[in-house]
Amino acid sequence: MRSPLPDYLTEVLDGCADTSGAVADYIPGLAGVDPDRFAISLLTADGTSYSVGDDETEFTIQSVSKPFVYGLALQERGFEKVLDVIDVEPSGEAFNEVSLERNTGRPLNPMINAGALAAHALVLNGRRSEQAVESIRSLLSSLAGRELVVDEEVAASELENSYRNVAIANLLRGYEVFEDDPDEIVEGYIRQCSVTVTTKDLAMMAATLATGGIQPVTGEQIFSRDVVRQVLSVMATCGMYDAAGDWLSTVGIPAKSGVSGGIIGILPGQLGIAAYSPRLDEHGTSVQGVAAFGRLSRDMNLHLMDAPMLAHSVLRRRRVVGEGDAALTILELQGDLNFTNSEGIIRAVVDEPVETKRLALDLSLVRAILSVGRRMLLEMIGRLHLDGTEVIVIDPDERLPDPDAGYGFRPRVYGSLEDVEESQPDAGAQTEPERGHSARK
Ligand code: GLU
Repeated sequence: MRSPLPDYLTEVLDGCADTSGAVADYIPGLAGVDPDRFAISLLTADGTSYSVGDDETEFTIQSVSKPFVYGLALQERGFEKVLDVIDVEPSGEAFNEVSLERNTGRPLNPMINAGALAAHALVLNGRRSEQAVESIRSLLSSLAGRELVVDEEVAASELENSYRNVAIANLLRGYEVFEDDPDEIVEGYIRQCSVTVTTKDLAMMAATLATGGIQPVTGEQIFSRDVVRQVLSVMATCGMYDAAGDWLSTVGIPAKSGVSGGIIGILPGQLGIAAYSPRLDEHGTSVQGVAAFGRLSRDMNLHLMDAPMLAHSVLRRRRVVGEGDAALTILELQGDLNFTNSEGIIRAVVDEPVETKRLALDLSLVRAILSVGRRMLLEMIGRLHLDGTEVIVIDPDERLPDPDAGYGFRPRVYGSLEDVEESQPDAGAQTEPERGHSARK
């Protein structure tokens, strides 16, 4: 069978055809592009690519570089330093607006030019400009999974017309947001914006944010999870400039657009998406790109705020095996143990108390236990123990490694129900953890 996904994406391309808007013309390097180019690329978190249209066309990354350079600054300089220099408040203004905090001059967020210039200065960190640009180029290359280059021609023509960015950089220098030469910061920032990419590259970069920082194809951990969470939060609130609120309510995913016509969007845990089409709307965002994202979000239920389908019960089955003192209540759990699911398990035991002396938590079908789920499960085990119920755990895949329920109690751990049945019913609580067959005597 041929996958229906490329056909669907082609349908989206055709359905979003629109010749309104205008190509950015403030520099010859951007004004000269073919206005009719249009591409959409998706990359799933497990590294599968779907891509249609002009996905081999190279264009300069422009502002789509901002979230990644912000991530690099966080990674290299630490959260405290970066938050001290750049705030995370939406400005509601255009990309090149002089949005600085009153009195301190701190840029409102890293997605507008003021914040992006400051983020560039944080990466520069007193080094030579070429070194900062090289570390950014190399970061973007690792994210894309191939070597990217700076389009020096576009950079040079932008540099000749960078009055506004020079003004913002000088203002930042005046407020001592950084201590470097403002011209050097502008030049480095403009070269950062002039790295050339295709939508396939951008989808790969976006997907690396979707996976919590792991490049889905090369497997390289490029950003830590904390950095990714911060970058995505800022993209969600500030990524689309003065259209950020409209975007979040209609499309509903963290995104970043650039003046050359590229847009990336990230569905955490699932997908990186990129679109390219150079005609821009009044916000400086690709007209066809916005339409494509809107359509994908609606068709594919990508909106992050869409109420999820009611989580199916994590308690798959409750049953009692054996009789008398050997009777065992088994709670068969399934899925992911987040707060809500763990609360459901606790409620099941509170509302219908366990009447046997022993209770088994069967985790065989549990996929993942978040740290909140682990804490809640262990607390429940500890409290049941205090109430006189001996809890054992069936955990063939070690979803709950080294369980210590507190209250001086560690439940026995078995590999399967058969292992439990073969063991002594009155084995009692352990002070040391034991696993599977070792519990058999
Ligand atoms: N290099 C552009 C500038 O700073 C990027 C703007 C954008 O892509 O929105 O003016």
